[in-house]
Amino acid sequence: MNDKYDFQTRTIHPTKTKNYSEHSLNPPIYQTSTFTFDKVENAKKVMNFENNDYIYTRGNNPTLRLLEEIVCSLENAKAAVTFSSGMAAISSVLLSLTKPHDTIVAHKTLYGSAHSFISNLLKKYNINAIFVDLTKPDTLNRYLNDNVKAIYFETPSNPTLELIDIKAVSNIVKKYNIKVVVDNTFASPYFQNPLDLGADIVVHSATKYLNGHGDVVAGIALSNDENYINYLKFDYMCELGGTLNPFEAWLIIRGLKTLSLRMREHEKNAIELTKFLSNHPLVKKVYYPGLKNSKYYELAKKQMSGFGGVVSFELNTDKDTAEKIIDSLQLCKRAVSLGDAETLVEFPALMTHFMLTEQELAESGISPVFIRVSLGLEHYLDIIFDFKQAFEKVTQKR
Ligand code: PLP
Repeated sequence: MNDKYDFQTRTIHPTKTKNYSEHSLNPPIYQTSTFTFDKVENAKKVMNFENNDYIYTRGNNPTLRLLEEIVCSLENAKAAVTFSSGMAAISSVLLSLTKPHDTIVAHKTLYGSAHSFISNLLKKYNINAIFVDLTKPDTLNRYLNDNVKAIYFETPSNPTLELIDIKAVSNIVKKYNIKVVVDNTFASPYFQNPLDLGADIVVHSATKYLNGHGDVVAGIALSNDENYINYLKFDYMCELGGTLNPFEAWLIIRGLKTLSLRMREHEKNAIELTKFLSNHPLVKKVYYPGLKNSKYYELAKKQMSGFGGVVSFELNTDKDTAEKIIDSLQLCKRAVSLGDAETLVEFPALMTHFMLTEQELAESGISPVFIRVSLGLEHYLDIIFDFKQAFEKVTQKR
């Protein structure tokens, strides 16, 4: 018999036995920086990892541990460590896997700060980066050697929504001592579980779908290798100090209870918006893996259980007209970030990916008229009406 509840139930009840003290329905927030010891002897035991008690919140805290447990259950992971942001998780993971003169092979299109961290900051520490097109995993072999320590990618990628075959990449690197690190932020564990497909480490910007309400910045890294997660927690998260605070962890625990419902609604709204955009004369191309004519449609069906809530599109207008259209939106918000209840619209070239050079933007497939939309939870007819009236503002003036 399956000893796990269904995914949706696990977002609320991560284990079959969990009860909180004082019969509280919701978990307490352990809003404390430090923990006390009955006796010095006890402190010695905790310091030597002889028991799981707490010492200091920068290293661990019961509210953080609960969040880690819940997301482990959703990602089918054995261990997890929370961070103060998605970037803290990504940077700590990549630092923990490399030393000077090692190489990271990454997909050419990544969230702007992740791209910049890998191509600029790591370079200062003599850690090399090779950006390749991982949508064609067969070409990966030519980049692999003993210096390569990590393969890093997002699938779907931000903001171009390309998909990378996690199983194919993991199989190719199996014979090397290389870790496959997947940023699963866009799919969320509701639509995709990279560890089940052979990835070694999963990272999330928990700021996005996991929290879902646009009021927290957080990150998490997960793996089936408990020793690795302990190393990441105590030698990187704790030493670099990128700790999540307990109140924010509690907000994510609260937000997670509706993850399944939210993801289904985000996706429904995304599909409806793609239907409108695909038929609009001002739209040159719509990027969404759920489109039957997308080259990622078959892979999406294979490795995901849904297509997600982010849609990108390119206009066939000039830059000024594109800005006028987006400035005319009344309901949808012009903002970076994604995965919130509000529909958020942005120009990656100017906003989330502004730190990329022109050449890097071109290599990533991000033109100045490329727009990313994170569908919120509003009624889809209101979202479509907002885009329709925004497009009309420029067509009327023509
Ligand atoms: N990964 C992806 C795919 C993102 O879109 C972002 C932020 O937008 C991050 C990581 C970084 O997360 P955070 O802003 O929580 O540091």
